[in-house]
Amino acid sequence: MSISDGGAPAGRYPPDTPRPRRRKFWGWGWEDEGPDAEQQARMGASTAQRLGVSEVQAVAPPTIDEIDLRAPRITPPPPLEEICSTDPYDRAGHSYGKSFKDIVRAYLRQYPEPPDVVAFPRDEGDIVSLLDWCSSSGIAVVPYGGGSSVVGGVEPAVGDLYLGTVSLDLARLDKVIDVDRASRAARIQAGVYGPALEDQLRPHGLTLRHFPQSFEFSTLGGWIATRSGGHYATLYTHIDDFVESLRVITPSGVSESRRLPGSGAGPSPDRLFVGSEGTLGVITEAWMRLQDRPTFRGTASVRFPDFASGVAAVRAVSQSGLYPSNCRLLDPAEAVSAGETSGKAVLVLGFESADHPVDAWMARALECCADHKGEADVRAGEGAQREGAAGAWRNSFIRAPYGRDTMVGLGTIVDTFETSITWDRFEEFHAGVSAAVMAALKEVCGGGWLSCRFTHVYPDGPAPYYSFLGAGRLDSAIAQWEAVKTAAADAVIAHGGTITHHHAVGRDHRPWYDRQRPEPFAAALKSVKATLDPQRILNPGVLIDP
Ligand SMILES: Cc1cc2nc3c(=O)[nH]c(=O)nc-3n(C[C@H](O)[C@H](O)[C@H](O)COP(=O)(O)OP(=O)(O)OC[C@H]3O[C@@H](n4cnc5c(N)ncnc54)[C@H](O)[C@@H]3O)c2cc1C
Repeated sequence: MSISDGGAPAGRYPPDTPRPRRRKFWGWGWEDEGPDAEQQARMGASTAQRLGVSEVQAVAPPTIDEIDLRAPRITPPPPLEEICSTDPYDRAGHSYGKSFKDIVRAYLRQYPEPPDVVAFPRDEGDIVSLLDWCSSSGIAVVPYGGGSSVVGGVEPAVGDLYLGTVSLDLARLDKVIDVDRASRAARIQAGVYGPALEDQLRPHGLTLRHFPQSFEFSTLGGWIATRSGGHYATLYTHIDDFVESLRVITPSGVSESRRLPGSGAGPSPDRLFVGSEGTLGVITEAWMRLQDRPTFRGTASVRFPDFASGVAAVRAVSQSGLYPSNCRLLDPAEAVSAGETSGKAVLVLGFESADHPVDAWMARALECCADHKGEADVRAGEGAQREGAAGAWRNSFIRAPYGRDTMVGLGTIVDTFETSITWDRFEEFHAGVSAAVMAALKEVCGGGWLSCRFTHVYPDGPAPYYSFLGAGRLDSAIAQWEAVKTAAADAVIAHGGTITHHHAVGRDHRPWYDRQRPEPFAAALKSVKATLDPQRILNPGVLIDP
C-alpha cells in the first residue's frame, strides 16, 4: 500500500488503469494542483519586482526517480510485512513535513534520512505489534498524521542511537465510529483527514468546526498531538477545547480517559497527551465535542488608517464579550493580499451562530471599531465571506500553500512565524521583533519584506502571525532562512512571547521551547517519558532529548 493511493494495497491498480489522485511526495497538496507554468512565470516577475532584483530563476520540482534513498536498514517481522511499505514514494513522502526547510531540501533532491519503513496499521492491534517490535529492537517510531508539520515534527532524524526508523502513518484509522447527538459529541479515529471528518459529521447536522489552514491535508490525531489552532479567532481557538476524552497506545499500555463535560479530579490525563507531539504515545481515538452547523452569519471588512488604530479596536472587541468567529487584523503590508493597496490596515470581522441572528453582535463590534477610526464595509448572510476584501483574503489564504512552494522554487526566503503576547506588551514586542527580523533580512538577503496579522485574539492579548520574504539562492537558502528564523525566535523569546501559539515545537523550535518551559516541568516531562516509553522509541528529539 502507499500514500500514493490513500493506503490501497500494492498491485491493486493494473498498469493501464487510471489511478486515484496522488499527493505530492515533496510538497503541499495534490500533484495536479498548484500554479501552472504561466502563473509561475508571473509570480517570478512580481517577486523580482517586489524584492528589487532583476529576475528570479525557477527550479523544477523533483520527481521520485531523481531521489536517491539509502537502502532500508531494517526488515519488519513477517506478521507486520503486509502493513509495511519500503516503496520509494512512501519513504520519500514520509521523510519531511511541509516547512520551508523541507521544501528546499526537496528541491535540492536531498533525502539523507528517510524512514526505513512506512507502516499503515489497520487497527490498534497492529499499532501494539509495531510498538512491541520497535521497542524490543531499538527502532525509533515517528507517528505520522497528514505530514503537515512545519517544525520538523515528522522527520525521522533521530541520530545514531537507533537501528532504524519507522514512520507510523495513521491514514487507515479514518472513521467517525459513534455519534452522541444528545451530548453533541463523537468518537473519532485519529487518522481521519479534515474533509473526510466533516463529511462524516455532516449527515448528523454537526461539525467539529476546527479549520486550520492545513485542514485538507492534516488529521485529527495530528491536531491533538500539536494543539493546533483553527481558523476561528476567539473562544474555541485550539483543538484542546474540543477534546472530551482520549485513547492513546503507549509502549507501556493503553491510556483511555473518561468522557466528561468537565472534571476537577487532579491534573488532566488528556492535557498530558494533547500537545505531546508523538513522544508519549500514539493517539488512536478521541471523543470530540461538536457543534451544530451555523446558519446565521455576518461579515465585515473594516479599514483603519494605521495598524495601531486597528490594534486598539481589536483589543476593545476582544474584551467586549462578543466573541467574533473571525477577528483577523491585517497590517498594511498583509492587507495587500486582500487587494487593499491604500496603505490601510484591514480587519476581517465575522460572527456565526446556529441559534440566533448575529446583527446585534456585529453592530456593537463595529461601534468598537468606529471608536478607533475604523470604517466598515458590512455584508450579511450565507456566502458573504466570499465577497469583498474579506473574501479575497480568505481565498488567497486557502491557495497560499501551493504558491509558497513555488516561491521556494524561485529561490526566495519565504516563511512565517507565529506567537502570542499580552496586550500590555504588544507594542514594544511588535517593534522589537519587527526590527530584529528586518535587520536579519537586510544582513542575509540585502533587504526584504515583513507583514503581520492577528490569527487569534484573546481578552488578554493577540496571537500575531508574521510572514517574511527576502531574495535568496536555493543552494544557500537554508543558511539564509536559519539566520532569519533564529533572529525572529530569539526576539520572540527575549520580548516575552511564546515560541509557538499553534505550529508546535517539533525539532525546529526545541532550543526556544527549552528556554520557555520551567525547569521542574522539563524534568517531570522526562520522567513521564521514561514511564510511558521506557525504550525511548517514540519521536526521539521532539520535546525531550533521546
Ligand atoms: C500550509 C500549512 C498551513 C498550516 N496551518 C495551520 C493552522 O492554521 N493551524 C495550526 O495549528 N497548524 C497549522 N499548520 C501546521 C500543521 O498543519 C499542524 O501542526 C497540524 O496539526 C499537523 O497535523 P498532521 O495531521 O499533519 O500531523 P503531522 O504533521 O503528521 O504530525 C505532527 C506531529 O504530531 C504527531 N502525531 C501525528 N499524529 C499523531 C497521532 N495520531 N498520535 C500521536 N502523535 C501524532 C507527529 O509525530 C508530529 O510530531 C499548517 C501547516 C501547513 C503546511
